[in-house]
Amino acid sequence: MKNLFVYILLVIFCILSCKTTEQIPVVNTNVVPENTMTKTPSAKNIILLVGDGMGLGQMSAGMFANGNKTALEEFEVIGLHKPYASNKLITDSAAAATSFACGIKTYNGAISVDDNKKPVVTILEEAEKLNYATGLVASSSIVHATPACFIAHNEYRKNYEEIAEDFLDTEIDLFIGGGLKHFNRRDNDERNLIEELEAKGYMMSDYFQADLASLKIDKSKNFGYLTSDEEPLPKAQGRDYLPVASDIAMSFLDGRSDKGFFLMVEGSQIDWGGHANKTDYIISEFLDFEQVIAQALAFAKKDKETLVIVTADHETGGFAIQQESTQDSIVGAFTSNYHTGTMVPVYSYGPQSELFGGIYENTEIYHKMREAFGWNDKAMTDK
Ligand SMILES: [Zn+2]
Repeated sequence: MKNLFVYILLVIFCILSCKTTEQIPVVNTNVVPENTMTKTPSAKNIILLVGDGMGLGQMSAGMFANGNKTALEEFEVIGLHKPYASNKLITDSAAAATSFACGIKTYNGAISVDDNKKPVVTILEEAEKLNYATGLVASSSIVHATPACFIAHNEYRKNYEEIAEDFLDTEIDLFIGGGLKHFNRRDNDERNLIEELEAKGYMMSDYFQADLASLKIDKSKNFGYLTSDEEPLPKAQGRDYLPVASDIAMSFLDGRSDKGFFLMVEGSQIDWGGHANKTDYIISEFLDFEQVIAQALAFAKKDKETLVIVTADHETGGFAIQQESTQDSIVGAFTSNYHTGTMVPVYSYGPQSELFGGIYENTEIYHKMREAFGWNDKAMTDK
């Protein structure tokens, strides 16, 4: 009887110890994903494509107008971001682009400053510090909210001349967009920022001097090109530079630094079509931007070290495709002439694209891009 009691005790002991040994691998498997994460190659290059005001309705209308296809279908991972500002549920482009560029929520109108109007470092500035090549391309003026938020800091988005001055504070390798007058025919002072940029070693040109497509670009210098005096024309009225500029930007930045590059391209006027409540305007601007998406995707497929992210800052117009529409003839209706608050799709392709699945704040775009680059705070302070 005593032996049986000892036997039972032994059995209980065995069961308990087996349980504890079973728990050890559980701890180990927690470590394994971290190891595999560090082994997943970082993105060498990031191309961030922002379709301003490009909600799901705009993408759908553009897709149908494009023969029921879009380059967006080739993206591997799709997520959604929440696009609100710190002071308003409905964001503007400035607060939204500050979230992408700096990883913070801020007030509408802010250009990469926080709620206290203090400048916050941008991903483009961080990339510059780490010796990456950097570029900005837009189909608006280059000092307009979205591109401005990556390179400038200002308490108010319409201080275009002050925003233009901030281009001299960085070593950005390439920028292409409108807004020449804010650089060389300024209201607030007599400065000529084009000459100042040239003195700093930039090759500068503009729409008045040379056609971008046929321009011989001196790759030994940084490059800036202004596509119009103020805001560029809509695509439907003859603007044709955005796909050309994006192509030039990718080949200019590719291999320029051993570290890699960061490029942001904005399809700026999809938003303006939404504000104007014009379906045709939205579609022609989407189709123009669609070419840029396809080019970036082709570059990334060949390069294999480039992460491409396509998203919007917000939806504009509350645009929806109506019952009488056909694929060849989209009839749109609008609920607003301003931005709306719906979540915005995020498409990603390339190394670390899996980071962009799920639903998250728009500020996460910044944090996920840094993670995709393989940056951590130590890497930043080391340099
Ligand atoms: Zn807008």
